[in-house]
Order: sequence, then C-alpha cells, then structure tokens
Amino acid sequence: MFVSWPILVFLGFGVFCVGTVVGSFLNVCIYRLPWQKSVIWPASHCPRCHGALSPSDNIPIIGWIALRGECRMCGLPISARYPLIEALVGLLFLGLYVVDVLLAPTEAWGQIPVSALATLGYHCLFMALLVAATFIDYDLMIIPDEVTVTGMVLGIGLGTLFPWIRPEPSTAVSHWAGLGVGILGLLAGAGLTAFIRSSFSFLLRREAMGFGDVTLMGMIGAFLGWQAAVLSFFLFPFFGLAHAGWKLMKYIGKRMAGIQSSSADREIPAGPYISMAAAFLMYSWPWLWPLWARNLFEMLHAIFWFMLGVNVGPLR
Ligand SMILES: [Zn+2]
Repeated sequence: MFVSWPILVFLGFGVFCVGTVVGSFLNVCIYRLPWQKSVIWPASHCPRCHGALSPSDNIPIIGWIALRGECRMCGLPISARYPLIEALVGLLFLGLYVVDVLLAPTEAWGQIPVSALATLGYHCLFMALLVAATFIDYDLMIIPDEVTVTGMVLGIGLGTLFPWIRPEPSTAVSHWAGLGVGILGLLAGAGLTAFIRSSFSFLLRREAMGFGDVTLMGMIGAFLGWQAAVLSFFLFPFFGLAHAGWKLMKYIGKRMAGIQSSSADREIPAGPYISMAAAFLMYSWPWLWPLWARNLFEMLHAIFWFMLGVNVGPLR
C-alpha cells in the first residue's frame, strides 16, 4: 500500500483516536471487571444520582473536559483518571504506530506493508490488556483471569492464525509452529514466575507476588514468545524501583513516628511493573533484539549446554 506523508499523519491521528476510545472501554473494564460486573451493560452512569451519561459525555477526553469533571445532574466530581487513561492509551497506541508502521523496514518510503498494520493491531490489543492488568492490580492487588486468560487465548490463537506476527525470533512459518511458539511462551513465562514465586515465598515465609503475576507472565509469553517473557521478568524490578523506594521511605517514616505499620506498607503490586517491562520491550525490540538480546540468549544457551557437558563450540 503506497501512501504519502499527509496520509501517514492522518493515520497516526486515527490510531490515537482509536486508542482513546479503547482507553474509554478499558476504564469501564478496570472499574467493573474485578466485581464480576458486565462491561457492556448498563451504560456509564453516575454512582451517586444514577444519571446516565449522554452520548456526547462519553466522547473520550473531550467529554470529561466539557463536563468540567463533574456529574451534570448532581455535581459529583468525576475522577481525572478517566480522561488521563484515555489519553495514555491514545499515546501508547501512537507510539506503537511509529515503531510498527513508520519505522518498519520497507522497500521504499511510503510503502506500508499490510503485515505492518496487522502487527500494529496485534500489539495494540496486547497493550490494552497490559493497561487493564496494570490499573486493576494497582487499585486492588489482583489481576483478574478475565484479562490474563483472555490474553493467553488471544496470544496463542492469533499467533497460530498468523504465525509470522510475533517478534523475532518467535516468528514461525506454519500454523502448527505458531501454536507451538505460543504454548512454549506461555509455559516459560508462567513457569519461571511460578518457580521464583514459590522459592521466594519459601525463603520469606510469606506470599511473594500473586498468582495473577504468574498468569500475566503466561500472557506475555503467549503474545511475544519466551525470550521477551524472560526479559520482562528480569527487567520489571527496575521499573518498580521508584515505587518501592517511596513505600520504604513511608514505612521508615511510620516506624520513626511510632505508628503501627501493616503488611500493606511492605507490599507493592508487581503487575504494573511487569506490564511496563513488556511494553518497553515492544517499543525497543526492533533494536534491542539484534543489538543486545540475541547475543545474551546465545551466551546463555552456550553456558546451559556447557554445564550439561555438551560441547556446542567455544564460549565467546
Ligand atoms: Zn450524579
């Protein structure tokens, strides 16, 4: 498909708008899914006066601004988090458009391969699931199966239908191979997390991480392949450092003031930071994989076989 740059800009704006609409739907999911409520029915309404929102109030970002953040009927403040999540998802989708479409390798400038648009759709879907997992985990320290199991099914299903859609080196040439890569990714992501979780729970003598983190990592493996899942797991603590440091300072402050601290003072959710690591990998993968990660995995591969006593050539 050949397009000129005004069309590329217009497409980018379109992707941003789609992102804000998806963000609007995710707001409903984040608010209702943990309570087993339908995300379709009833339509959005004010929790105090039960007044329904008009169609124009439902326009992402603009609706909230037009209402000045208050219910039209009773004046109850509407959290600024709603338009912020809508804008966030719009920007996340726009970033994926830049990486997957604008910077995709092409034969000539202005050529958009249809496969690049398919990859963009695949990544946007995955990003939406990560955003839902992030905010539900942040609010309630749980990640519902509605997000992660749906994600595992979609990751494996789409990777089977379109075996070339996963990032290198998890692309496959046949449907069966695509299915295999997805299942291997799921097992590697969930298995690694389950292993570390039970080891740490044993050492710390209390629950470390939640089972939701195990299924979240399974979803990441199903979508991106086992290498990206393993990297997400080792990168996520870096994304959580600031939150952990802030929690620690609050905890020390409470101890010094002689206030009783609870177990919640020593816990932060892992899901948001696992999701951030996976999102970071989606943006950086076209450069991260060939320039750094491929060598890392080749080295680990050689060390693994070396330790088993199998000679696979000299270690670099
Ligand atoms: Zn109201």
